[in-house]
Amino acid sequence: MISKKMEHMVANSSAIRAMFEEGNRLAKLYGKENVYDFSLGNPNVPAPEAVKQAILDILSEEDPVALHGYTNSNAGYEDVRQAVADSLNERFHTAFSAKNITMTVGAAGGLNVILKSLLNPGDEVIVFAPYFGEYRSYTNNYDGVLVEISPNTVDFQPKLDEFEAKITPKTKAVIVNTPNNPTGVVYSEDTIRRMAAILEAKQKEYGTDIYLISDEPYRELAYDGVEVPYLTKYYGNTIVGYSYSKSLSLPGERIGYLVIPDEAADSEALISAANVATRILGFVNAPTLQQKVVKYCLNEKTDISFYDRNREALYNGLKELGFECIKPEGAFYLFVKSPVADEKAFCAAAKKYNILIVPGSSFGCPGYVRLAYCVSYETIIHSLPKFAELAGEYDRR
Ligand code: PLP
Repeated sequence: MISKKMEHMVANSSAIRAMFEEGNRLAKLYGKENVYDFSLGNPNVPAPEAVKQAILDILSEEDPVALHGYTNSNAGYEDVRQAVADSLNERFHTAFSAKNITMTVGAAGGLNVILKSLLNPGDEVIVFAPYFGEYRSYTNNYDGVLVEISPNTVDFQPKLDEFEAKITPKTKAVIVNTPNNPTGVVYSEDTIRRMAAILEAKQKEYGTDIYLISDEPYRELAYDGVEVPYLTKYYGNTIVGYSYSKSLSLPGERIGYLVIPDEAADSEALISAANVATRILGFVNAPTLQQKVVKYCLNEKTDISFYDRNREALYNGLKELGFECIKPEGAFYLFVKSPVADEKAFCAAAKKYNILIVPGSSFGCPGYVRLAYCVSYETIIHSLPKFAELAGEYDRR
């Protein structure tokens, strides 16, 4: 008999995955080219050529016993962590060193490591809707309590008045994700400054430490030259969770890192806790080959012009059909207002045209749907007449 906790998790298991499986089923029935599957954030731009070359070079140059062995520290190879720190210092004028970096099993691994390190049962973790639904599970893994801030559907910047009102002495962490999944919004510098000021004031008022966790797998996917503020520069108690899943198109390889700066409260204890959490959560260490790849490919990025072309085509196409959405500044998602309040009914209607989209309630924001445009350009172009037929269903009402 599985645990009560898992019973609940299995019952609520991701609507996104279910949709992905539905896509495979429809592809078998109608042919892949006739299914418009916008359900999953799986990058479809290949990893840069340099990644393949790095793997070949590493395999031929490194001692295989050392390369495939456990790392000395659960935080990862010292040289890789120093290289990551140097690269961040150069880009963001920070002052990190190897000890501030813990290599992780993607962003998901990093978030679990930091939440395991921070949370006592009943501690509160604040998230801003719409948010990546897995935050709910990760918080629940450590008996934390997720506290949602309702969505600001005007521009999807966080609602800071509600945020301030919902911080309590039990608030241990706040997770932000910018560029954001599912809206594509980049939180402005003004938002970050105001958020930091609220957190500073609340820490003083309650005499507590509140950690700001910046979940940033989409940092490199920002369009039109938009700046994505680096949060450690605005608030001392910031932890950064980074991932190469999207920036190097390596989601299956499971590689990322946490930054725990010296300025964070109890930094040393937290770094040690992250080290132990990496071990006892069963990761032991982040994949060693991929750690080396990171060092070789620090200056490589996925080709975002591909996503940008998709963004323009889908955004403009849907706007012309009368759909309401804001233009994403980053990531590869479009968050569209459902023409009817029950967005699940809208998703079901879309399925009749072989269009697969994810209900906003999966992200704590009903009434909206998410489209992942990390698909081929042809899929977008061929989907637009289908979206036109779908829109027609609502025009006649
Ligand atoms: N955080 C957000 C906001 C995401 O969208 C994702 C994946 O889609 C993750 C974390 C997990 O990323 P990773 O593959 O690096 O674990």
